[in-house]
Amino acid sequence: MTGVPGSAYQRSKGLETVSWKQFPLGRGLALSLLEEQEAARRQVTGQALLDALDEAAGLPACKLVVADRPQRHRTRDGRLALKTYGYYRIAWEAPPRGSIRIYNLTAIRQQVLAPKVFLETLLHEWVHHYDFTGLQLDRSPHTSGFYGRIRDLAETLGVGYVTPPRREMPGAAQVPDDVLSAAPDRLGPGGAAPPQWIRDQVMGLFGRGGH
Ligand SMILES: [Zn+2]
Repeated sequence: MTGVPGSAYQRSKGLETVSWKQFPLGRGLALSLLEEQEAARRQVTGQALLDALDEAAGLPACKLVVADRPQRHRTRDGRLALKTYGYYRIAWEAPPRGSIRIYNLTAIRQQVLAPKVFLETLLHEWVHHYDFTGLQLDRSPHTSGFYGRIRDLAETLGVGYVTPPRREMPGAAQVPDDVLSAAPDRLGPGGAAPPQWIRDQVMGLFGRGGH
């Protein structure tokens, strides 16, 4: 955990590659994901890819759920305001527990997420896991470096074509809308309960009983 305000942002922006303890053997799994459409199949293959990445980077496990339903969405002025297809959540335990949830259907038209979009979303959410548990950042903003790490990861896996260049968006970089996290002193063992809005968000997105 870094103690200097703003340092997570600066470190995130300055790093454009992912560091590995050993080369990740995930290329075959990434290519398999591009052939799959069903939520259940994507969950099994996607979990295997996450496990390969976590092992190669020396990170704690990250659990994947692929929900066979459309993402709940918000609109602003009649337009879709929320465009993320997945979420990352970190629970500050020892070791930290990361989880990723991806909705297999698009929000409005309820079509199956295109394979490239699914894989890009999975890699995007895993880089949040890498930021928290690998780089030990206390936030995981959408900086230019964050998008650089996604591209680097995709290129390492031989699927660079799934990650179109993204520009850092002011504001969105500071508070990503697809990350659920609380400071360790609020969620840590023995700490106070997290604020209600965090509990509501976590329940709404990750839920219990079959979301
Ligand atoms: Zn994100």
